[in-house]
Amino acid sequence: MIRVIEADFVTTATKLEQYPRDPLPEVAFVGRSNVGKSSMINALAHRLKLVRVSNTPGRTRTLNFFDVTLEHKARRRVVRLCDLPGYGFAKVSKAEREQFAEMIDEYLQRRDMLKVVVSIIDAEVGPTKDDVQMLETLEEHAPRILVAATKLDRLAPGKRQGRVASLTRELDLPPGAVIGFSSTTGLGLEAVWGSLLDATA
Ligand code: GDP
Repeated sequence: MIRVIEADFVTTATKLEQYPRDPLPEVAFVGRSNVGKSSMINALAHRLKLVRVSNTPGRTRTLNFFDVTLEHKARRRVVRLCDLPGYGFAKVSKAEREQFAEMIDEYLQRRDMLKVVVSIIDAEVGPTKDDVQMLETLEEHAPRILVAATKLDRLAPGKRQGRVASLTRELDLPPGAVIGFSSTTGLGLEAVWGSLLDATA
């Protein structure tokens, strides 16, 4: 049983000098704009509005850092979460898209406290071209990758397990590398935290 004790916004950053400096194991979240990234971070933090769930996708233009205090097996731990700008949103200019990509690259290449990156994929839509490209970048730079297939609640219960398995095959990942998730129902919450605590231990 994993218990969230506290969750707080730390700071916003666009470049390395602005990242929080105190050393805490860090988990980063990436995903296509509108994939459900804000909702997932809120669900993991057991908070409704830690991250704003946006109806106007493509609006997060910064990196946002949050600290979450957890209790697991009678041990208290603090994990820092970093919400990276969503990618693949058609309505932003090419210049802006490049700026986001640079922000993400700088983060992935320079952030030494980074332990694991959660790559969020829409379970229903499946991996898009942008998702596959992001995963290739992560394979190069991320210390560890966890794929979360979110919005799984939109699939019939009988189809969920098969969908997670087919996504795993499609992405050419080993069994267990993709965790089914739903921010709406809390499905997969314990599994994702379990994996993140492992990676940040
Ligand atoms: P972001 O742009 O990636 O941060 O995505 P948001 O968290 O803002 O979510 C985008 C939309 O998807 C919102 O309308 C959410 O209510 C919806 N959404 C997010 N997660 C889920 C989920 O697990 N299940 C369902 N059914 N809808 C979700």
